[in-house]
Amino acid sequence: MDRFSEFASTLDRVRATAGKNEKVRILSEYLRELDADDAERAARFATGRASLKGSADETQIGYSTITDVIEEMTGLSSREMSRVYVKHGDLGKVVEEVLSRKRETTLFQEDLSLRDVAEAFEAMSQAKGTGSQLIKKGRLKSLLLRASETEAKYLIKILTKEMRIGLVDGLVEEAVARAYGLDRGAVREAHLLIGDIGMLARQARSGDLGLVRLELMRPTNFMLADPMERPDEIASYFGKEVYAEYKYDGVRAQLHKRGGEVRVYSRRLEEITASFPELVEGARRIDHDLLLDGEIVPFRDGRPLSFQLLQRRLRRIENFGDAQSASPVVFFCFDILLLDGEELYRKPLQERRAALARVIVEGGTFRQAETKSVSEADQIQRLFRRSRSLGYEGLVLKDPASPYTPGRRGKFWIKLKEELDTLDVVIVGAELGHGKRAGIISDYTFAIRDGPDLKVIGKAYSGLTDKEIEEMMARIKSLTTEDDGYYRKVKPQLVIEVAFDSIQKSERHDSGFALRFPRIKRIRDDKDAGQIDTIEKVREIYSSQKVTSEP
Ligand code: AMP
Repeated sequence: MDRFSEFASTLDRVRATAGKNEKVRILSEYLRELDADDAERAARFATGRASLKGSADETQIGYSTITDVIEEMTGLSSREMSRVYVKHGDLGKVVEEVLSRKRETTLFQEDLSLRDVAEAFEAMSQAKGTGSQLIKKGRLKSLLLRASETEAKYLIKILTKEMRIGLVDGLVEEAVARAYGLDRGAVREAHLLIGDIGMLARQARSGDLGLVRLELMRPTNFMLADPMERPDEIASYFGKEVYAEYKYDGVRAQLHKRGGEVRVYSRRLEEITASFPELVEGARRIDHDLLLDGEIVPFRDGRPLSFQLLQRRLRRIENFGDAQSASPVVFFCFDILLLDGEELYRKPLQERRAALARVIVEGGTFRQAETKSVSEADQIQRLFRRSRSLGYEGLVLKDPASPYTPGRRGKFWIKLKEELDTLDVVIVGAELGHGKRAGIISDYTFAIRDGPDLKVIGKAYSGLTDKEIEEMMARIKSLTTEDDGYYRKVKPQLVIEVAFDSIQKSERHDSGFALRFPRIKRIRDDKDAGQIDTIEKVREIYSSQKVTSEP
């Protein structure tokens, strides 16, 4: 059983090293010595995750709970804690600094093992309902009592999902490959398929990488679409007859069904089954075991409703029953990856669609995404207009001969949307609005991703309804890490989609760019900060602009 202190000191060394190659080397040498159980735990923890991706259970322990426990253990006041927090801006580091003041210690200073930590995290996730906060606090406290300062830092970094040691998932994946002498491409492939880095490390360590399979009840990464701007560009890119499907505007989801058991996963590979009871019921009526890919769309009387209606259901906020009847949903299926034990995902889309047609009985909560064959630009243009007039977002064009490639934009799927483009960004700060919105937090500063860093690219205050602003205000308050009364820094978690007229170069923000007339298109609760757009995409859009408004 391996000690957690070893893990913590390895990560400290990784953090202290600037070079990526060196980081990978240090981590891989550490992983090489672990057995399969510990390799699973260590790889998962190193990416700042406490539990298996796709499990409905998350430790769900927030900043304030952690701070409470620390204050209790050290006798520090909240004022003193905030002073230390301002210095580091990282709760893990705060804990490392203040923990030497802990007033109690346990009698038996038994070393923490990776397994102890995993078990404690598991117990925290299992705690539900009334009294659960108390259980979580108790568990955290007993972990911290046994931990050194460095160990405590990493415990907190994992729980807050803020590793910040320059070790992105890709590097952990590389370390796994190097640790066990495996081909990087094969490891990447397996990772995309099984989704969870811990499972990947386990399989790699056991020499079972070749046995990695797509399995029911374990989410896989979603296949993605590349954007193109014009129908003629798309027609000449494919140069043959392809499928054109409406681009449904809802929540991407994967539905797994085995016997009477049904699970629905979001694009972040989180389980969202409980938000959609009618899908569970509907799926049970399908007489097959299967894995479907599709879009959950709020839908009534043959027409899509506003995407925003889904947000309430996803977050399962108060009055869930109301939210459910206000936004009945349909699952528009556009792909099938497994059917009754048969692997379909490597087969051509044409065959997968034929299988889908056999198992989906039209009319209920499950429908097939409409497909038409097109080859000419004007056909694409016409369908695109039709899609917009029916209330859909555009088109997705797909190569009928293509396999399903989890987690990839393989240019087998091309999306055509209305505006030039939009960016998915994360909110990093907020301030009080002006005029009609004076006194209300309604002005959001947002960032895109630049490697491991977040870089600010703009501010927006328009686009949300008053009700949404109210909800955002509450969420922003709970994510605030620093507040000077006017501007507050916000933990980067809230993802929004912004539309804009153009991108300009600008000294105003640290990304070096600014958006012209940004407006919030919608709140993207289906995405997390890891999935926002990057500086590369910004540069691409910037240079694709036909007329830039540069001075
Ligand atoms: P975007 O979110 O703009 O990057 O567009 C890609 C998304 O479009 C996918 O992740 C799906 O959620 C959604 N989508 C809607 N309809 C389809 C469809 N027929 N095929 C594939 N993706 C679709």
